[in-house]
Amino acid sequence: PRSTNGGANSSRVLIVGAAGFIGQFIAEASLKSGHWTFILVRSIPSCPTKAKALKGFKDDGATIIHGAINNQELMEKILKEHKIDIVISAVGGANILDQLVLIRAIQAVGTIKRFLPSEFGHDVDRADPVEPGLSMYNEKRKVRRVVEDAGIPYTYICCNSIASWPYYDNTHPSEVSPPLDHFQIYGDGNVKAYFVAGPDIGKFTIKAAADIRTLKKSLHFRPSCNYLNINELASLWEKKIGRNLPRITLSEDHLLDAAKEKIIPQSVVASFTHDIFFNGCQINYAIDGADEVEVTNLYPEETFTTMDEWFNGFIIQMNPVKNRIHG
Ligand code: NDP
Repeated sequence: PRSTNGGANSSRVLIVGAAGFIGQFIAEASLKSGHWTFILVRSIPSCPTKAKALKGFKDDGATIIHGAINNQELMEKILKEHKIDIVISAVGGANILDQLVLIRAIQAVGTIKRFLPSEFGHDVDRADPVEPGLSMYNEKRKVRRVVEDAGIPYTYICCNSIASWPYYDNTHPSEVSPPLDHFQIYGDGNVKAYFVAGPDIGKFTIKAAADIRTLKKSLHFRPSCNYLNINELASLWEKKIGRNLPRITLSEDHLLDAAKEKIIPQSVVASFTHDIFFNGCQINYAIDGADEVEVTNLYPEETFTTMDEWFNGFIIQMNPVKNRIHG
């Protein structure tokens, strides 16, 4: 197995939602860094890729535990029995408030050194999406306030956008190749955002979870190498595929209309995409509060996967035989 459970600096980490999109990156990073990794599984995955991921984690040394976080008695038992130090939750957008029961369990047990609630996006206290994204942020805000009021040691991971083409109607864009027919450019395409590869979200989440410097802080991800607007992203992809694609402008109203349709989860993504590429929600503030830190300042020796490298991965996936990369 890859994992070296039990090293000198290892913690006992419980990951909730490890079969999910973001949770898989966190579980991989936890095992890789040698933590004792415990994975809470709510249901036997019907999807073969999720089942394969869980088997991989088990083979790499993770302990699989069955249960759901909205069962307080069970969660208290699990936290105590496995002497959990760190709890990382990556439940999906529809289950944010399930964490309120987990928080009560963490508070009752009283020995958890750090809790990372399911955030993994924007700073929800600052971002200002329209509905239905706003309702999800209101739930994430509520979780923050309950954690703080309970006196639980926490870290909030504000990792911005996952590295991918930022489709406004796709929840898990990094699983989909960037466009091959035309680009949809939001407005003038000049508002910048930060793109972070999934494995880097996992790696820095795990580093931060055991780092005293992130205690009771928000950790913002602003890697300058991936500070790009959508025009730049389009040009980078054109270099990779070796040809130019037509660019179609999508207006602010187009995204607002998609949000108003209230199709879940697509309309939630439309409201976040609007907040990123029209309001500039990732870049319209300075990180200067006493309760916040920036990841490249905290770990200056660490490198981030660049979007250029990330796009190479899509080229390889699309054309594994020829494996040709332009640019
Ligand atoms: P997914 O829906 O892919 O996965 C969620 C996981 O949580 C599933 O494995 C699910 O289990 C599990 N889960 C849900 N409820 C419970 C419960 N009560 N008890 C135990 N397990 C539970 O979620 P995502 O990865 O899409 O989202 C995770 C976080 O990341 C969210 O906060 C989301 O907003 C954010 N995000 C950020 C992105 C970005 O670009 N920055 C992109 C996508 C998400 P089961 O398999 O049984 O359903």
